[in-house]
Amino acid sequence: MPIEIDALLATVPTQLFIGGEWRHSSDGATIDVVDPSTAKTMVAVASGTREDAVAAVSAAESALETWRCAAPRTRSTILRKAFDLMIERREDLALLISAENGKALADARAEVSYAAEFFRWFSEEAVRLHGSLQTAPGGDYKIVVQREPIGVAVLVTPWNYPAAMATRKIAPALAAGCTVVLKPASDTPLTALALAALLREVGVPDGVVNVLPAHRSGSVVGALLAEPAVRKVSFTGSTEVGVKLLHAAADRVLSSSMELGGNAPFLVLEDADIDQAIAGAMVAKMRNGGEACTAANRFYVHESVAAEFGRGFATAMQALRLGPGYDEGIDVGPLVNLAAQDKVQELVDDAVHRGADVLTGGAIPDAEGFYYPPTVLDNVDAGAEMMNEEIFGPVAPIVRFTDLDEAIAAANRTDYGLVSYVYTDDLACGLRVADALESGMVGLNRGIVSDPSAPFGGVKLSGLGREGGHEGMLEYTETKYIATSW
Ligand code: NAP
Ligand code: MG
Repeated sequence: MPIEIDALLATVPTQLFIGGEWRHSSDGATIDVVDPSTAKTMVAVASGTREDAVAAVSAAESALETWRCAAPRTRSTILRKAFDLMIERREDLALLISAENGKALADARAEVSYAAEFFRWFSEEAVRLHGSLQTAPGGDYKIVVQREPIGVAVLVTPWNYPAAMATRKIAPALAAGCTVVLKPASDTPLTALALAALLREVGVPDGVVNVLPAHRSGSVVGALLAEPAVRKVSFTGSTEVGVKLLHAAADRVLSSSMELGGNAPFLVLEDADIDQAIAGAMVAKMRNGGEACTAANRFYVHESVAAEFGRGFATAMQALRLGPGYDEGIDVGPLVNLAAQDKVQELVDDAVHRGADVLTGGAIPDAEGFYYPPTVLDNVDAGAEMMNEEIFGPVAPIVRFTDLDEAIAAANRTDYGLVSYVYTDDLACGLRVADALESGMVGLNRGIVSDPSAPFGGVKLSGLGREGGHEGMLEYTETKYIATSW
């Protein structure tokens, strides 16, 4: 591990952040944070309890009245400062993300910029929370509609984007006037704690943002959601856990936003520009080393261009440098943990067993971290497990097609519906395909869709609600209608 990271770790908080104070866990429990590049523990972080959960909600509840009544411009200015300070600290935050998550520095730097943009975007949205006014149809009174902050929000985030998944929730919640308790993933609690310190520095009042790492996640999140002051849960993670949280939310009729798993198809049509399709495939597959819910999971390529596409894609994948994420010049870091590495290998073995051709990669290298090489498989069987579940690693399965309608039907044959990608030189055809794809987002001749100013989210088992855009702030509001005799 580079010495800059040692120095950085010495400055990063490792305790719970509740009501503006750093605290130990009430039972002294800790979480070991592991460096996936070496498989060694770097530092231990306090792991919250149910009691700490109650304390965190209580802090958020105490801070709510003042924060929701603060002038929108005041909230906006603080969020804007958070953007500026994140950008100023980009290098340190990126190193921290690489150290605890494993991703390559280039990906970590991109994540910090992306994460910071949520603060900028929602600093701009904070002063634009419109309502409406209309005359009732009978003409006898006015219908006044306003948006109010929903209240205390519980935010639960995954390890794959430790900064961006947190800011994508914190920024709109604060913009709308809500206070929050964030439970980060146990693999990556450090980035969330560093963000808590940063938000305190820019003037977020005590109790408005509380951060509660907790490895007993089911129990602790259960305790959070059971607190009467909580009115909202926003979750990003697996569909399996999202369903559990929806059950818990039902008991208290909590407003719920769910950003869940994906199984993105990537279609390359007969007339596509193959060089551009390969460049797009590299981004759609390899952004974040393949550990993204938006990662292209299945490549449907027209038979007439499949050999050319497969060759070019494999050559580009093979050229990527695999190594410790925080080393300069590395393109692909390790996967987040041993379980992830094992799962990717199992999926590859299954596909190969069913007849897939390995164009590049396919085997775990001999190294101490959780590495997996960029891998391209051709002629993958439709029944292979990786066609039906998220790979969450640098592996690209190619399936060849001849009939576009059949390819679209195959693309839609999944319980998920987060994002789809289409490459074609015929824009009208691309738009027709985009219409037919069952997903919340489509990349048309683009390998990336994520943008803080656009509504991000999925259909089917990929989730409920949208993050980013104007919609992202509305998720943290309630509509109030005031019937007014004018
Ligand atoms: P995960 O296991 O669902 O964990 C996500 C978060 O939920 C973590 O903070 C985790 O805490 C917590 N958690 C786990 N079990 C829980 C339970 N029973 N009750 C309450 N909370 C619980 O997901 P992951 O493995 O970290 O992340 C990968 C998944 O996230 C993938 O499926 C990916 O597609 C999805 N994802 C979706 C989006 C999107 O926007 N749609 C974005 C990124 C990732 P612990 O870490 O302490 O277990
Ligand atoms: Mg997990």
